[in-house]
Amino acid sequence: MIAFHDVASGIKSLALESHLPVIAHISDSSLDEIKGGADTVLGALLGAVDTLMMPSFTLKCMIIPQAGPVDNALNYGSGNENNSLAEFFTPRLPSDSLMGVAAERLRLMPEAVRSNHPLLSFAGIGVDAAIKTQTLNNPLSPLQALGDLGASILLFGVDQSANFSIHLAEKLAGRKQFIRWALTPAGVLECPGFPGCNHGFNQASRLTEPVSRQMLIGTSTIKVIPLLPMVQILQQKILKDPEFLLCDRSDCDFCTAIRTSLS
Ligand SMILES: [Zn+2]
Repeated sequence: MIAFHDVASGIKSLALESHLPVIAHISDSSLDEIKGGADTVLGALLGAVDTLMMPSFTLKCMIIPQAGPVDNALNYGSGNENNSLAEFFTPRLPSDSLMGVAAERLRLMPEAVRSNHPLLSFAGIGVDAAIKTQTLNNPLSPLQALGDLGASILLFGVDQSANFSIHLAEKLAGRKQFIRWALTPAGVLECPGFPGCNHGFNQASRLTEPVSRQMLIGTSTIKVIPLLPMVQILQQKILKDPEFLLCDRSDCDFCTAIRTSLS
């Protein structure tokens, strides 16, 4: 098993600056070989930086309506069974298990704060101002806010498909965004600005390599990518190549709708 000391010295070698925020994505499988798991990794990260944010998304609150705008990558009326299982969003609702154990442990820390977007909330330490920028119309703004402060993305045992901030580059390049709906105690809320698909995001690896740095902890690759330089590189690439980062799955409604929007 990998001990706290090894995780901490590994993170130290990435030369994070303590005053610059980190947006982390941490795989559950990486935690299996670390003594203390998520708490060890979070402790090591919070020993290195003052500001840490992770996604605490709750797509289990999503509702599929009977009808809605066209070209929205949604099969309206198809969700009746899932709609009945949808949960009401409240700030205390646990994040989806897909977000990983570490994201949920971070959310549960006594000093952590969480935004109140019913589908795409973020949680973290020292991120009060960033999460206050988030609105139903602008779910990605906490990423921009931390990027403006010099944030880096930290991918811990995950590839670029987990790098949610790539959606910010897509949005800034003018790529089509979507509308989804969420169940809340105040009723069903429309959530515009919903990003598309992440299955093509590993196309970002080569272009972002020059601004990235990485090391190994156990068998997990830890990669650090400064957010704004990454977003600028990818935004420029999308403007030149409008299908960049889209996936090639023939059944992907998001990427099909985006390709249609280009023609
Ligand atoms: Zn796709």
